[in-house]
Amino acid sequence: MAFEGLGERLQATMDRIKSKGKVTESDVKVMMREVRLALLEADVNFKVVKQFINQVKERALGSDVMQSLTPGQQVIKIVKEELTDLMGGDNQKINLANKPPTVIMMVGLQGAGKTTTAGKLALHLRKKFNKKPLLVAGDIYRPAAIDQLETVGKQIDIPVFNMGDQVKPQEIVTKAMSHAKEQHLDTVIIDTAGRLHIDEHLMNELKEIKDIAEPDEIMLVVDSMTGQDAVNVAETFNELLDITGVTLTKLDGDTRGGAALSIRSVTEKPIKFIGMSEKMDGLEAFHPDRMAQRILGMGDVLSIIEKAQTNVDEEEQKKLEQKLKDQSFTLDDFLEQMDQVKTLGPLDELLKMMPGANKIKGLDKMSFSGKEIDHVQAIIRSMTLYEREHPEKLNASRKKRISKGSGRSLQEINRLLKQFNDMKKMMKQMTSGKGKKKNPFGNM
Ligand code: GDP
Repeated sequence: MAFEGLGERLQATMDRIKSKGKVTESDVKVMMREVRLALLEADVNFKVVKQFINQVKERALGSDVMQSLTPGQQVIKIVKEELTDLMGGDNQKINLANKPPTVIMMVGLQGAGKTTTAGKLALHLRKKFNKKPLLVAGDIYRPAAIDQLETVGKQIDIPVFNMGDQVKPQEIVTKAMSHAKEQHLDTVIIDTAGRLHIDEHLMNELKEIKDIAEPDEIMLVVDSMTGQDAVNVAETFNELLDITGVTLTKLDGDTRGGAALSIRSVTEKPIKFIGMSEKMDGLEAFHPDRMAQRILGMGDVLSIIEKAQTNVDEEEQKKLEQKLKDQSFTLDDFLEQMDQVKTLGPLDELLKMMPGANKIKGLDKMSFSGKEIDHVQAIIRSMTLYEREHPEKLNASRKKRISKGSGRSLQEINRLLKQFNDMKKMMKQMTSGKGKKKNPFGNM
């Protein structure tokens, strides 16, 4: 997981100061020395580190902090606020045009994740804003780039505009824009060529495409694993193209995090999205405050909730609520709910986002592979539809059959039935009570 080393070091430093009843100037200085080292080790740009340390120090040594009742807590709050500011403060949204089409130009070095992110972004815009995107294959140099974009498009069912590799990208883009208008596609996402290094020819081509397409968003895609290089690349692309936003990919890997912490400060351009997996749904809006909280081990509950919400189908949700109200929620519905929980991703990743998760000893070594869910699902799947609707009819011989079918023990089956009963009772209380909660699974 990204920021692991930085998080551990900062948290240890914060823990030491938190417990202090009185904080002296020298405590703050010692602490800031540790923070400085932690940031440098995480590959944060040294100028950025210097500025950050000075800012925190100045605020932390202010008399209102030192004389407060909880100086340790105050200092931590300052570190959190300054980390948030460093990463850009508020979440910056993607620029969408007032009048269609919105044009998004993807730029970046080869291998940064441009093509993948183009697809992820198309999916995100369709899901979140009901947009109808067109992906444009503008990278005619990398042999597999066009095929890759076609594959991505098929995977998420988004049209791809492709003129092969013998037409100049400038012409492809011109044609793609008219095609989008004809087909009433309101968002054009252009995948451009990347190189291993920045070169003049590439940059000129990108500038020409920019002039033709007049993009609302020039999204630079950088690989967080490349650390300071990512920051340098961002600086150069910004100077030459005046980018409008950054997507930082591969934050699911064990990057030290330096790029995430430096890019905004160096380029003055916001990180808008982060790539959290290779899969098409692995794109998250970047929230500096939540990231700061994650780094400092304060958890990130809001992201979990958002993740849950984007995975929920509104219609299904309504049906479920009705079933809870009229008490017709069956084991079959339970099975479906568990499928939804699974779409949230590996449980251990989710757990790490919970506040205080870093304090649970051995959590990182435990494996929450979702096996428990698989077992419960296996049991329910071994029941007939009638049994799923009338679990009270499960007698010894039926249970034996289910046990055989699912490969789980009788005890496990009994436990599941008891839990299901308890849950139904709880739901009854909740749906009949005043403080109605919409869904006992907390929106999952
Ligand atoms: P391009 O050359 O810039 O178009 O890069 P690609 O889109 O082909 O991506 C390069 C590699 O990085 C591919 O194997 C992608 O699957 C992978 N990749 C892209 N974004 C992410 C991410 O956020 N996380 C992970 N783990 N892999 C990613």
